[in-house]
Amino acid sequence: MGKQHLLKPYPSYKANLHCHSTFSDGRLTPEDLKTAYMAEGYSILAYTDHRHYGWYKDLTDENFLALAAYEVDMNEWADRPNGFDRVKTYHLNLYDTKPETGKTAILPERRYGDIHYLNQYIESMRQAGYLVCYNHPYWSLQNYDDYKDLRGCFAMEIYNHGCEHDGLYGYNPQSYDEMLRTGNRLFCVATDDNHNVKPFGDPLCDSFGGFVMIQAQELSYDAVMHALEAGDFYSSMGPEIYEISVEGHTLVIDCSPVEKVFVQTQGRFCHKAVAMPGETITHAEFELTGKEGYIRVDLRDSRGLHANSNAYFLDDFLF
Ligand SMILES: [Zn+2]
Ligand SMILES: [Zn+2]
Repeated sequence: MGKQHLLKPYPSYKANLHCHSTFSDGRLTPEDLKTAYMAEGYSILAYTDHRHYGWYKDLTDENFLALAAYEVDMNEWADRPNGFDRVKTYHLNLYDTKPETGKTAILPERRYGDIHYLNQYIESMRQAGYLVCYNHPYWSLQNYDDYKDLRGCFAMEIYNHGCEHDGLYGYNPQSYDEMLRTGNRLFCVATDDNHNVKPFGDPLCDSFGGFVMIQAQELSYDAVMHALEAGDFYSSMGPEIYEISVEGHTLVIDCSPVEKVFVQTQGRFCHKAVAMPGETITHAEFELTGKEGYIRVDLRDSRGLHANSNAYFLDDFLF
């Protein structure tokens, strides 16, 4: 069998799949956001304003794609002694694969704890052409009980840069593995969830900290949505992944300089390659045992920033 590219060898487009504009509680207009993100090398922005369907198709040009999206929430009752501070909440991003001008947001009813209802809502949104993402579990005060039965999401947020600034609640690798281990086959995304209360350059600016690199055949709405649906992307806070491939049982990873290359699996076993102190590595190879269940690549650079691949299940590509 020849080499299989788990990460597709297509052009990569940098995307922020979670941002807020002046159409909800963000400080910048959709146009301002396009300008700022393009200046940082991004090609794709999903406008995910709270409960507000936004498709700014006039912003799309040959170098930039505006994705139609919105963010919904379902909260516990807020009449608690500490108000919203201790209220659990589900936040979901909805990405429209079939955008139309003038569409409006369909919101879930307020039925926190009714996972059957929430799964039905997600399924109905899937039928309507949306890709649904489960957002920032840590910030949401959610735990295994809240997401173990969640179904129908194409992805979850493994990193949310805004939540990282809120209280170091940004990185959620444990939740991703826990969801995968329930048999839930979903992808993971890193996002900004920027509101831009702080100016660019401020250490608490919530832009440019979490992104996905999408491997698509071209920068078109259909090609990018197809890549998201197929999992042709990886997530990062900084490091880049150039190749993840398998030839026979050999897993090959090429990346920007990092200290650690870990390959997480369905169980406790983990493949790893680490640099000597003060040094970095850009390449690693591992022999798969065939017992990994799934594999996902987690890189960490010398700044402590991670890049994460999606999970790949061995029964999809081995044998
Ligand atoms: Zn949110
Ligand atoms: Zn948000």
